[in-house]
Amino acid sequence: MKTVLITGASKGIGRAVALKFAKEGWQVAVNYNQSADAAQAICKEIIEHGGTAKAFCADVSNYDAVENMIEEVVRAFGGIDVLVNNAGVALKQGLFTDFSDLDARSIFDVNVFGMMNCARAAILHFVNKKSGRIINVSSIWGVSGASCEVIYSASKAAVIGFSKALAKELAPSGICVNCIAPGFIETDMNAHLTAEEVAAFTEDIPLGRIGRAEDVADSAYFLASDAAQYITGQVLVVDGGMI
Ligand code: NAP
Repeated sequence: MKTVLITGASKGIGRAVALKFAKEGWQVAVNYNQSADAAQAICKEIIEHGGTAKAFCADVSNYDAVENMIEEVVRAFGGIDVLVNNAGVALKQGLFTDFSDLDARSIFDVNVFGMMNCARAAILHFVNKKSGRIINVSSIWGVSGASCEVIYSASKAAVIGFSKALAKELAPSGICVNCIAPGFIETDMNAHLTAEEVAAFTEDIPLGRIGRAEDVADSAYFLASDAAQYITGQVLVVDGGMI
């Protein structure tokens, strides 16, 4: 049975990714940082449906915690086949000049260094067996840029640059690295938006609806599947045609 580790799987997109892989018969390692109850609830749901899941606490921005987590996952499930780097924060919206250096570092700590920490720790296992997949969750704002989300956009652009370069470096080792760039997805990350703001966003989406976490989960599963074995270094945009 294959194993997937999903960071930030306690809610939103990560939760949907965990449920999708579980439904497809994978062993699921559910990473969380603060939302322990939510992570345990997802594992319970998966197990009640006959699947295998375990929650692992780690702040992805802390390399030691990540290394411990990866070792625990390997001990619990016998290995890792796919890493989905999904944990991310937006913190706030506002003009670039309203963001302090600390704000910017807090965003990069999770979105960029968190992703790198998990990739670094997982690669050690992937290289030994000459196989593995890394799927990094970026954003359409990392592709096109967003006003009032400049730091977040920059962090998500870094995710894309990192993934493209790492894909080339790891291809000879049989490891594929790809990105997903979701558009507007209905999760807690967008819960602060008013109904009017959501309606305005929806008008800009050619497919006429806001994305669901399941839309992203299906794409992540595709990139982990045999159907995507010749795909690496790519950015799969999941945005209803928005950009
Ligand atoms: P969300 O509902 O706010 O969930 C964020 C997840 O990240 C939570 O499970 C949280 O875990 C985890 N997390 C945050 N900091 C962490 C840390 N230091 N260590 C480990 N986990 C951490 O957000 P979402 O909308 O599902 O977003 C998931 C990913 O998709 C993010 O990378 C986001 O940038 C990206 N994305 C989202 C959208 C969108 O419209 N929603 C669009 C494009 C891209 P805890 O609660 O346990 O701390």
